[in-house]
Amino acid sequence: MPDITIENLTKVYEESGDEIVAVDDVTLTIADGEFVTLVGPSGCGKTTTLRCVAGLNTPTSGTIRFGDRDVTETPVQERNIALLFQDIALYPHMSVQENIAYGLKIAGFSRQERIARVEEAAGLLQITDQLEKMPSELSGGQQQRVALGRSLVRDPEVFLFDEPMSDLDAKLKAELRPVIEKVTNEIGCPTLYVTHDQAEAMTMSDRVAVINDGELEQVAPPKEIYDEPDSEFVSRFIGQPSTQFFDGRIRAVNGTAELVVGDYEYEVDGLGGWNGDEVRVGLRPQHITVSNDADVGIPATHLLDEPLGDATHSFFETEFGEAIVVTGPDFEGDGEEYGLVFQSDAIRLFDTDSGVRIA
Ligand code: ATP
Repeated sequence: MPDITIENLTKVYEESGDEIVAVDDVTLTIADGEFVTLVGPSGCGKTTTLRCVAGLNTPTSGTIRFGDRDVTETPVQERNIALLFQDIALYPHMSVQENIAYGLKIAGFSRQERIARVEEAAGLLQITDQLEKMPSELSGGQQQRVALGRSLVRDPEVFLFDEPMSDLDAKLKAELRPVIEKVTNEIGCPTLYVTHDQAEAMTMSDRVAVINDGELEQVAPPKEIYDEPDSEFVSRFIGQPSTQFFDGRIRAVNGTAELVVGDYEYEVDGLGGWNGDEVRVGLRPQHITVSNDADVGIPATHLLDEPLGDATHSFFETEFGEAIVVTGPDFEGDGEEYGLVFQSDAIRLFDTDSGVRIA
């Protein structure tokens, strides 16, 4: 199977005389067998990138290659791709089995080969007992499995997904995620998966590509994206609840530099050479603890708690605005003053203007 190479891809749409740069000089390689998720907020250019890879959109500039083959101008039907969308569009008058086998029939596969491939796909997708049913008898998650089966029996070279689970509820999503992972692993071809759901990106991918306003912000394995974000945008977008931001200042003391937030000082690695600079201080809500002593850490007035069973999301008002902290399952604030204490090795600092990570 080939790698997918996206090289300097730019797509500009024209609308009522205005130019919209949907994708701006994106370069990304998805290795054979690799699962890469393109994630970002609505309108950031995810679908346009995927459609260019699929051959449904023509790039304004740049190149798409499958292995050594330049497919930039190749029509979609000649690219040997499996393409899954949110809209499942099964043939309503055909059974599950007929839906999966239809493409093979058109392509001239023998009846024996069709049966063998459908059985194999159905086993992989855990829908063997659904083969005789009609699409209207299936749940959304089962329908998406059938659509997946229809794609995979054709032995695609490349798997492309555009928000295939966005119509499903949380439980069905959680059930389908491992199925998609298993199928793409089994087929072993490169996979590009588009979503705005960062939980999908984090759980399924070998690497996550975060896109913002048409440009790639960071491409890295999920854990690296989470722990070592390159920018304020990435830190804010990935993780639930979102990273909390505070204003801080770097102060040099006796040859070393430390971070000051409010009246509180933190030792943070990598601050040598900085002094006097204002910085954005980012912390995940899981890395802030609540002290009953309001003189420890950042003073914070308790607002409310959202108990989730295994943890609580606790909201506080601070001089830097509202802050969310993940507290223990038994935490119950009383609306009084507390202190928010940062776990120093989890502090990430960002440039106040560019948002680029500095430490
Ligand atoms: P979403 O998550 O909402 O689907 P997205 O990240 O997939 O968003 P795109 O659909 O690629 O983003 O759109 C990127 C930008 O290009 C948006 O500003 C969008 O309005 C614009 N755009 C997309 N398709 C067209 C089109 N056919 N004509 C004009 N502008 C378009």
